[in-house]
Formats: sequence, structure tokens, C-alpha cells
Amino acid sequence: AALTLAGCGTGSNAGSSNAGSSNSTSASGAVKIGLSFGDLNLERWPHDEKDITSYIKAHDPNAQVLVQDANGSSSTQVSQCENLISEGVKVLIINAQNGSALVQVLNDAKRAGIPVIAYDRMIENGPVSLYVSYDNEKVGELQAQYLTQVAPKGNYVLLEGDPTDPNATQFYNGQMKVLNPYIKNGSIKVVYKQWTNNYDTNTAESEMEDALTKTQNNVTAVLDANDSIALGAIQALKQQHLAGKVPTTGQDADLANCQDIVEGLQTMTVYKPINTEADDAAQAALDLAAGKTPKTTGTTDNGFTKVPSILLSPVAVTKSNMMDEIVKSGFHTEAQVYANVP
Ligand code: BGC
Repeated sequence: AALTLAGCGTGSNAGSSNAGSSNSTSASGAVKIGLSFGDLNLERWPHDEKDITSYIKAHDPNAQVLVQDANGSSSTQVSQCENLISEGVKVLIINAQNGSALVQVLNDAKRAGIPVIAYDRMIENGPVSLYVSYDNEKVGELQAQYLTQVAPKGNYVLLEGDPTDPNATQFYNGQMKVLNPYIKNGSIKVVYKQWTNNYDTNTAESEMEDALTKTQNNVTAVLDANDSIALGAIQALKQQHLAGKVPTTGQDADLANCQDIVEGLQTMTVYKPINTEADDAAQAALDLAAGKTPKTTGTTDNGFTKVPSILLSPVAVTKSNMMDEIVKSGFHTEAQVYANVP
């Protein structure tokens, strides 16, 4: 793919304002920060892009943020990152499409003296300077804890995330920590489990249809790894008049899902305040660009090294704390969330 670098003032038009690929567009001496996303089509990532870009611009008005969107292709992401390296970025922030497909990029960045920040998703088996994310095992624990409270017995369907996203395995591990005792004593049975490429809504809908067919609609609870998957699962449940009757989880507090929650169609989601994560990554990028060591909360093993990490705490959201967590924080407005409630 051609290199389309967005010199993002507001960050709201990732990839659409083509500033060209030459250095001539940057103010002299301005810090350039590369920001590579695996897929800006999924609802949450444009929020991240906007928050990171505006934080950097607010703290260093001369800084240039070069945004790239790989549109779900891990090979496109590799070439876009290589281009950002040749473009002379000071720091590279990567939200990996495939956590194990970027080893070459990590090595090339290291050789060029460019620190890499793994944003939200760990990048495995190579030199990463910093990992900024939520505690992803905790995300899975919150989902399963909620479901086991409302449905301590019965048939569970597990619609997991993208198999190439390291977070997906962590969500699953967290869920299993909670579910295992119930499975061992026979009160919960996992009747269907499937990984969902790119957390795709249509794929999740087919998976849920499959699960309902195979069990003859005998499903007690659905553990959806995130909200785009939950949308698909709820679509399939609707066709069988089961939406709202079978508890469902999610993650991200996407707007459509918050609306489904207050309407009683989805049961819970996990909110991970994006602005906190984005601001922490942006501040760390500015620190690293200035040769400073960012503040961290611990380390995470990525198979190559113990990566200094900032790990934030996720929050379970249901109908009852929607106002407190989602509306009061300003993530969505009350009018948006309750748009379909009479
Ligand atoms: C993120 C989730 C998101 C999912 C799909 C995961 O890596 O942590 O917040 O829902 O990717 O975009």
C-alpha cells in the first residue's frame, strides 16, 4: 500500500488527509511520532487515535503525528511501520493487528534507535520499550464473574476474540480462571467455543447461529469477548426470540452496545476508559522522544524481554452503573445512550 501520512491536527481524519511522504512537510526540528493502527474500522480505535493525537499536539504543538491504518492486514501494517521508520519518527506507537507478525519491525526500529510502544496489544518476541494496556486477564474475569452471578448453572457459549490478538488469549485465560471451578463441579457446561477473526460482527452472528442450531437453542449464557462480537450474537439471539433472555457480555462500551444494555438486550460490557490509556501512551511517547524514562506500573514478558508496562484497571458496566461510568465520564452522552428508550 502507498504511504499516506496524515499530519493530524485533530486526528479526526486518520489517513484521509494525505500530507505526502516526504520530510519537507514537517516544521524544522519538530518531533515526529509514528502511530500505526491494525484496523481503524472497529469502533473503539478511532477514539484512541483522536485522543493520542490531540494529547501530543496539546503538549507539543510542533509535534507531527504520522497516522497509519493497516485496514486489518498484518502485512500492510509491517510495510507501513517500515515506512514510518524510514520517515525518521522519534517514537513508534503500534496497535498490532497480529501480535506475533512484527518481529522484523521491532528489530529494524531498534537498529534505527526508535523506541516502540506496544499500544493496547502486546507485540511478541522482540524488543519493545513500553507496553500500555488494560489488565486484559481482569477483563475476562469481570465478564465471567458477572455471568456466573446471573447464571451460575447451565450451557455456556464462548465467542472469543481474534486468535492473532494476544489480548484475546488473555481475555480467555481470565474467563477460564473464573469458570473452571463451575465446569469442574458440573454446574456449567461449555457447549460451544469459537475464536472470531478480527472480532467481526457478521462472523460472530454466524457463530451464534451455529451454536443455537447445535444446541437446539439450549443456551443459558453467552460470553462475548467484546462488543462487536456481542452485536452479532444478539442479532442471532433476536432471530430465535432469545435476545434479552440469555445474558450476554461484551467489552469497550461501544455506543450501540450501551444502548442495547439499557434496553435489556445485552447484559454487561467492560469499560476501559480510552482517554486514560491514550493519554498515558502519548505522554510516554513524548517522554521517550525527549530521552526520558516513562513512569510504569510493572513489567510484562513478551517472550523476548520483560517489557516495562503501564497496566490500567477495567470496569464492569451494566444498566445500573451506566450513568455513573459511561455518561458522567463523558464517554457517551445520556441522550446517545438512552436514544431508543421511551
Ligand atoms: C482490545 C479490545 C477490542 C478488540 C477488538 C482488543 O485488543 O483490547 O478493546 O475490542 O481488540 O478491536
